[in-house]
Amino acid sequence: MKLRTKLVIISSFILLFALLLTDFFVLDRYSDNAVKEATSAGCNDSLRVKYEFESFFSGFSGNNEKQMIAYHFKYNQELYTVCYKNGEEYYNNTVFSLEELKSGKWHDSFELPYKKLDYKDKKLLVFKFDSFGSSFFNIVDITDTYEKIFSLAVTMAFVSLAVTVISVILISLIIKKTLSPLKLLSEGTKSIAGGDYSKRVAVKSSNEIGSLANDFNSMAEAIEKHSRELSESEKRTALLMANLTHELKTPLTAISGYAQSLRTLKLSDSDKDEALAYIDGESKRLDRLSKKMIRLLEIDRNTEIAFEEIAVDRLFDEVIRTCSSFAKTKSVELVKGQCDGIIFGDFDLLCTVFINLTDNAIKASENGSSVELFAENNGLFVRDHGMGIPKDEISRITEPFYMVDKSRSRKNGGSGLGLALVKVILKHHGFTLRIESQPNIGSTFGVITETE
Ligand code: ADP
Repeated sequence: MKLRTKLVIISSFILLFALLLTDFFVLDRYSDNAVKEATSAGCNDSLRVKYEFESFFSGFSGNNEKQMIAYHFKYNQELYTVCYKNGEEYYNNTVFSLEELKSGKWHDSFELPYKKLDYKDKKLLVFKFDSFGSSFFNIVDITDTYEKIFSLAVTMAFVSLAVTVISVILISLIIKKTLSPLKLLSEGTKSIAGGDYSKRVAVKSSNEIGSLANDFNSMAEAIEKHSRELSESEKRTALLMANLTHELKTPLTAISGYAQSLRTLKLSDSDKDEALAYIDGESKRLDRLSKKMIRLLEIDRNTEIAFEEIAVDRLFDEVIRTCSSFAKTKSVELVKGQCDGIIFGDFDLLCTVFINLTDNAIKASENGSSVELFAENNGLFVRDHGMGIPKDEISRITEPFYMVDKSRSRKNGGSGLGLALVKVILKHHGFTLRIESQPNIGSTFGVITETE
């Protein structure tokens, strides 16, 4: 059974039950009062009959008592009064025998004792009293009162039924409106289950269902983001593997070829030296490549960065110290510019970043040129006056294994992993890499620490 139908049925039953219970109590009180009022009026009427009889009979002293009494009641049109004395009926116009009138249970909550009597569809009350040695019954018809109670009961039942029907219609409409977002949510869930993570639910209400819809949208958003990241990561991994395979294949084939030649061919000393030098050079490059690769994967996995306060001056000193011997080989001067202030991050990882940037800057520089390291308000920068990077390649150089000039980079011992490593480290710090470069003029690599 649908939730809406269930809710409508349950609420209708509760409503109907509440209305009927109210009706019952109201009717009970009303009928109680009405019957009491009717009984009190009947009692007063019987007392009137009694007093009228007593004022009539008080001066009587004849021996035709029975005729006088009958005359009195007939004359006064008291058709429902019965009089008897010593078991003999003096006056009785009613359909009831003395026995019928005498028998039954008598109540005494009013001035005169009375009992209830049903005759056909009539509701009667019988009051009894004695006066001047005679006994009397006075019958009062209260059918009217019961009819009023019945008609009130019927009216209330109809009103309750009408109220229930109207309420059921209203409840049904309200529930339909309230639950309609659930249908949208269900459709949204099905879409997500089917792999379409772009589905969102447009629910404006601020009730619990509205907040459920908001939660659903947040969940869909998170799933979509996660799935996008997963597929991007899958793509990255596939590309990385393809590039890695390619990077390994060429030197390994060459190393194997040279090794083969060394074993099988008679080579001159200079050819042997050349072969060994090549094997040595390529082995070292492969060693560097594998180390960078391991570092890259390590950092990408271990997202926890131990943030510490680092003086920029100290960081630049460490970088310059590490890169100075390579700079000397190319007669490139490493210049430390403005370097006040501090930066928050992992010292070793930030050293790796700036060593890579400075190393690249030295590689790109002409002999006798200079490379500057300096700090500005929004970050730290490495500037060279070297060959620069073509505009359309700038966005690609942070991709793993991407090299602008492959053969030149390889000759310089490059692997195309340095900037990929830099990017990953900066990402984990919440920093960004900004590259400005112009061919034959130079490049500035900026680590931006402030959000711009
Ligand atoms: P590599 O190990 O080859 O240096 P990187 O990822 O560090 O790998 O750099 C990728 C490529 O970006 C380099 O091969 C080089 O072509 C280019 N590049 C990086 N820094 C500079 C720079 N300062 N000036 C010119 N080209 C650069």
